[in-house]
Amino acid sequence: MAVLNEKKKEKVSLGPDDKLSAHFRRKEFNCRCGRCSPAVVDGQIIKWLEAIRKKISLQRAKDTKITITSGKRCKKHNKKIGGHSKSKHVPDEKGEVKAVDFKIAELSGSDLENIARSVGVKAVGVASTWVHIDTRVDRDRRWEY
Ligand SMILES: [Zn+2]
Repeated sequence: MAVLNEKKKEKVSLGPDDKLSAHFRRKEFNCRCGRCSPAVVDGQIIKWLEAIRKKISLQRAKDTKITITSGKRCKKHNKKIGGHSKSKHVPDEKGEVKAVDFKIAELSGSDLENIARSVGVKAVGVASTWVHIDTRVDRDRRWEY
């Protein structure tokens, strides 16, 4: 599976539409301010999203889309939308985004949480129709929006 690796990182400058994996493109993760640099997403996040997509598609016996509702946030945009000052959506010191918010049609936040945890996600923020996941795996974390 074509997840983000060192080679892929070098391709950031190629443009906002390059493929991060079989089913996800960089532009889906780009900051919604529309003005900052393309998102570089931690490879683990992409692996989890592919695993979640595969699982729900098998359960439903049909190809099921994951909608990314928030990927990268530059500091300015994060502040504008009231994000946490230490948000994992804001690129870390290596420039990598460590969190993503997503939804899947007809699934509740707690459905999404269950699927996410089943593929190894440990940090989950649960809203009514979407979830936040991030790369922290030292212990289970759960909070609600
Ligand atoms: Zn931005």
